[in-house]
This record gives sequence, structure tokens and C-alpha cells, in this order.
Amino acid sequence: MKSYILAIDAGTTSSRAILFDKKGTKIATAQQEFQQYFPQNGWVEHDAEEIWNTQLKVIKEVVQQANTSLEEIAAIGITNQRETTVVWNKKTGVPVGKAIVWQDRRTSATCETLKQEGKADLFVQKTGLVLDAYFSGTKIKWILDQSNELRQQAKEGDLAFGTIDSWLIYKLTAGSKHITDVTNASRTLLFNIHELKWDNELMTLLDVPEKMMPEVVSSSEIVAHTDTGVLGAAIPISGIAGDQQAALFGQLCWNEGEVKNTYGTGCFCIMNTGTKAVQSKNKMLTTIAWKIGDQVEYAIEGSIFVAGALVQWLRDQLRLIDSAPEVETLASSVTDNGGVTFIPALTGLGAPYWNPNATGAIIGLTRGTTDAHIARAALEAIALRSMEIIVEMQKDAGVQFSSLKVDGGASNNNLLMQIQADLLNAEVVRPKETETTAMGAAFLAGLAVGFWSSKDEIKTMWQEDKIFHPSADNDAKKIIEMWNNRIEKVH
Ligand code: ADP
Repeated sequence: MKSYILAIDAGTTSSRAILFDKKGTKIATAQQEFQQYFPQNGWVEHDAEEIWNTQLKVIKEVVQQANTSLEEIAAIGITNQRETTVVWNKKTGVPVGKAIVWQDRRTSATCETLKQEGKADLFVQKTGLVLDAYFSGTKIKWILDQSNELRQQAKEGDLAFGTIDSWLIYKLTAGSKHITDVTNASRTLLFNIHELKWDNELMTLLDVPEKMMPEVVSSSEIVAHTDTGVLGAAIPISGIAGDQQAALFGQLCWNEGEVKNTYGTGCFCIMNTGTKAVQSKNKMLTTIAWKIGDQVEYAIEGSIFVAGALVQWLRDQLRLIDSAPEVETLASSVTDNGGVTFIPALTGLGAPYWNPNATGAIIGLTRGTTDAHIARAALEAIALRSMEIIVEMQKDAGVQFSSLKVDGGASNNNLLMQIQADLLNAEVVRPKETETTAMGAAFLAGLAVGFWSSKDEIKTMWQEDKIFHPSADNDAKKIIEMWNNRIEKVH
């Protein structure tokens, strides 16, 4: 029996490799940042070759660190920044230009035009996504629109499109595999998430030839082996999932109604909706959670633009605190918000308000208001916005929300997590190992090769750090009532 699973975590700012042992313990981690290119306002690019080179380097590094050999790796699981678009020449294996990153807004006008032509509903119904520059479809179109030569090559089948998972697998297999998994495919605006195939009508609308598209595989099966000439060993690649889906799996949110929320700069919230693909009434996204064997499961996804960023704002703009964790001490020095509500609309308001012009506000100030009340109201605001998203998801999905798993930098804040449990009137569970994205990829890969025998075995490895139960006499009702009255004022 081999000793390790290798997780490749191809993030937005860095390439990472993590080795997990049979007990699910993290044995070694290596990480290397790569360059972000901002060639114009609203444009964000990566160099796909640099992503590959840094990824290869950290794979070798992690094996060295663990003082082991590639032969000891039972399988590789890949998780990646989603939607980022690479187009390369199949004959040379060389990208035709820089990768266009998910954050890139250059195709906004294309999306607007399609909306004006009345195509938005078609995309929602087939792909579960809103027509937005965020996703890969219009990015591919933009690349092909750059020259007649590229268009011609694409038509003739000489070009390949892939998200980062696809690109890395192409490189790891020395160009012999052009594949992607269902979760990544479901972020392209070109994949029919109900029929599980590239959609001709959408491909025609975006002028993307099907010949460019990768073969779509499931998230947990042996889909390729690394090329010995590239890596020095033929290791099965048996797990692939986009980062948020991998985190959902890594947080063991395997049942309908289970949600994970990542508290970073913003919040990424995703709820398992089981075998139902639920269409949101609130412009939240429907997406594929994973496909394991023949079973496809779906999720609904929503995000909050400003979460930890609000704490940064208190630190850098208001200068109430010197470091982010200090907000907890300050907010804990009072027992309530003193009547203060913080509306965190620093960059507009997302679901369920969808008001890009809303601005922030601190309401309810009196002579007695202190910095601690404002800090507490800020933490409440992060939890209130998360609650709103979860409540809307629950309504959309018609499933009973059961538990919230948390991760991300701000999930270390105990007071914030307690407020979240009180507001949701539900348990909030924080795992010991917050490397949930990489763990998800490792679990998917390990299950496929029998490294772990079953999901039950994985359950025994997952450890909670702390469970936050709703407290007996909390003031959640009052906070929510005040919030509901006051958010109307800015919105
Ligand atoms: P990202 O991946 O978006 O960079 P991280 O998961 O690294 O985010 O989390 C960093 C964010 O969390 C920052 O916005 C920071 O202000 C916030 N943060 C970190 N620690 C705490 C804390 N103890 N309490 C509240 N917010 C925190």
C-alpha cells in the first residue's frame, strides 16, 4: 500500500502542493506565488506556463520535504481556481496568449449585448449561471476574436480550451489527455448541467467550436496517469474539482441542506442540494457539486463581496484596531451592539438585494456609542449577510438547512462564529484542519483508488476544532429586526 495522496491546489495567486497520509494528516506543504498581470483597467491575466512551472516545482518540493519518493504517491487530486481560461495550440502545446482570470471584466460588454438580445434566461436554464464576464465562455470568444488565424485554427481543431485543471492535466500527461471534470465544466457558460454535455446552441451563440472543448469526466475516478517523462512516475490522477466544490466535499457537506461558508475577504457560501439542480429566484448560481460514479449532485452558490474586508476597513481606514484578530477583543468588551447597525455595502449589495449602487452606513449612533459597539456591529454585519444568503438558498432549494461548516481567515474569530450560530439558530462547526479545499481534492482522489475505502472512513479522519451552539438567551431576534428596518434605508 502506498503512503500518500498528493493534492494539487492551483489557486488564484499561488501554486500549492500538499501531501496527506492515510489518516488524512497533512504531511508537507509547498507553495509558490506567481505573477498577476493587470494590463488594463479591469483586466487580470496569468501566464499559464508559469502556473505549470510553479506547480511542477512545488510537487517536487513537497516530495522532498516529506523525504519520500513519487512511487509512494497513490494518486493525485487537483483543485483549482475556477473559470480562468487557457487556450493552447494542440500541435505545439503552447498557449496562444495569457490566461484570462476569473476576475477579468473585459467581456462585460459582450455579456450586456447578449442580455439585450434576450439570451440571459437561456443561459440560466441550461448552465445555472448568470450571464457574466466572470465565467469562461465569453473569455474564449474574446481570445478567438483576436485574429482570423486563431478563429481558423479553432475551426480546424488545432486549438484546445481548458480551465486550469485541464491545462495542468494536459501538461502532466505530456499532452495526451485533454479533459476537465463536471464541476469545472459547469463554470464555463457552455455546459448543460442537466444533460451533462457541451451545449451546441450556447457554443454557437458564443462562436466557440466544440472541437476545442475538453472531454468531461467525473470528479472521482482514474482519468489519467502522469507521464513518466514529465514527473518520473506514472501516478493516477483520480480527483478533480473546482475550489469551492472541493471545499464543500472537504468539509463533508455530502447531504442535502449542508452548507459551507468561507470567511475570507468576501464570503463564499455553497449549499448541497442533492440530486436536484435548483434554479435560484435570487440570481444565485446553480452548479454541479460533483459527480461520483454515475451520481451527479448539485449545489447552489452565493457570495458576499465584503466580509473580512470590513475588518480590514476598521483597521486601515477607521484605525480602530491594529490587526484583524484584535477586532474580537474589542467587540467582546461590550455585551451588545449598543443599538448600532453596520450596513456593510462598501461595494454595493449582492443577493438578495442586488443593488450595486448601495453604499455603507453605520446607523444608531448616540453619545454612548464606543469603538467596541462599532466593532461588534461590524462582526454582526458579516454574520447577518451570511445568514441572508443561507436563508435565501434554503428558500430557493426548498431544503431544510441543517448545519454550517466554516473556514477561511475570519472563521478563527470565535465571537463572529458565536454570533453566526445565534443568528442562524443552528450549529456552526469549525474543523481543525482548515485546508478544506486541498482535503476535498485529496478525498476525491483517494476514494477513487481505494486509498480510503469509503466515505465513512473519511468521516473518522475529519476533526472538529469547535462547535458553536446557539446560546440560550441571545439577542438575535432584536439584531435581525433592527437590521431589516435599517437596511431598507441604504438600499
Ligand atoms: P482571502 O483568502 O480572501 O485572502 P483569508 O481566508 O486569508 O482571505 O482571510 C483574510 C480575511 O479575514 C481578511 O479580510 C481579514 O481582515 C479577515 N480576518 C482574519 N483574521 C480575522 C479575525 N480573527 N477576525 C475577523 N476577521 C479576520
